[in-house]
Amino acid sequence: MEDHIKTHSWPLQRIKGRTRHLLYKLFSVHLLLSLTIATTTLEARQEAVDHSIQAPPSLKQAVTGLQENPRPEEAPMPKGDTATNPPLQLLEKSIDPGMKKRIFWSLGYTFEGVPISAPVLVINGDYAGPTLCLTAAIHGDEINGIAMVHRAIADIKPDQLNGAVIGVPIVNLYGYRRSSRYLPDRRDLNRYFPGSPNGSSAARIAHSFFHQIITHCDALVDLHTGSFHRTNLPQVRADLSHPKVLELAYGFGGVAVVHSEGISGTLRRAATEVGIPSITLEAGEPKRLQLREVNQGLKGIKSLMKKLGMLKGAKTESVPEAVFHQTKWIRTHRAGILLSKVQLGEPIKAGQQLGIITDPITNQETAIVSPYDGRVLGMALNQVTIPGYAAYHIGIKADKPGPTEESSEHVAAKTKASDYSDGEE
Ligand SMILES: [Zn+2]
Repeated sequence: MEDHIKTHSWPLQRIKGRTRHLLYKLFSVHLLLSLTIATTTLEARQEAVDHSIQAPPSLKQAVTGLQENPRPEEAPMPKGDTATNPPLQLLEKSIDPGMKKRIFWSLGYTFEGVPISAPVLVINGDYAGPTLCLTAAIHGDEINGIAMVHRAIADIKPDQLNGAVIGVPIVNLYGYRRSSRYLPDRRDLNRYFPGSPNGSSAARIAHSFFHQIITHCDALVDLHTGSFHRTNLPQVRADLSHPKVLELAYGFGGVAVVHSEGISGTLRRAATEVGIPSITLEAGEPKRLQLREVNQGLKGIKSLMKKLGMLKGAKTESVPEAVFHQTKWIRTHRAGILLSKVQLGEPIKAGQQLGIITDPITNQETAIVSPYDGRVLGMALNQVTIPGYAAYHIGIKADKPGPTEESSEHVAAKTKASDYSDGEE
């Protein structure tokens, strides 16, 4: 039988003696050279990463609408008008004033036992001031916030900054890898803050993040999008009964502000409860990069930083676009295919048809009608639904004076907790 089996011979095996030896030597020298070049390049890249953080060119171009630098240069802050900033100590690293650095937060292990770390981008300004934290993708499929953090870090120059910015583009790296909102155990990380060192996997990750990073913040903006095929009008969510939180929410400016204490376990609520005023920005859909929403978020972050005395030169949005003290979800009551008749952000009247549900078998149509006057702050995309699906999130029309005429005490006395049983935070 063996006679019939053809043995395959490699070309080198057919080359004999000195020629073969010479070829091996040449190959070894080539391999050594390639490895040296690769290692040097890697080291050079890591060196560059440590000292200069830039958004990836493709993302940067995408977010700025294919323009490398569409904004005029901001005027440099006059030197010596504030105290010199001390080095920032974070995650066992020291970031000197005037430096941007990428460091890493270890959030645990993969199923294979491999350590997993998320990048943390830090700018320590030339001058003393508060530390603002920007966190994104606590829900791993929410992309818009990732771009906002990168853009903010790339745009802010240390010599124009009072204080520091800590940006975490992807908190839930586990979920991001699977394009999922959740952690590997299907827990929602944003229900476990401030966490526990001996609790569930989610509680441990929350505890590590909260104590290693969040406790270093003087203020926090947590960036989110709608969930599960829903989209949100850009809106700040904040506990307006808290004066410092109200200041952040109004300082963001330009977008709608929705009052809510926040669900227990959210990063926003846990941070606010330990004295770190926090707001959430909701903007757009999950699983998509939406340039308009990203640019709006970026504008709000810079506006807020100027209000906090951190940035000079940035334009500010003077007041929120609108303030909602109460919101309601409108749910579907029939199974079928949803087709909306309203747009995101549209003002609506009680009795108005918001959309229809079509039964796929009988083609029978059922209208979804709003019981409220208000505005569409969030809505489901056209899709197949079952009864009970939260389809429209309505900001209830306020019969109150405008935001500039209200003090925080005034707001606190009149606001009620909102219905966020399907909230995205
Ligand atoms: Zn979210």
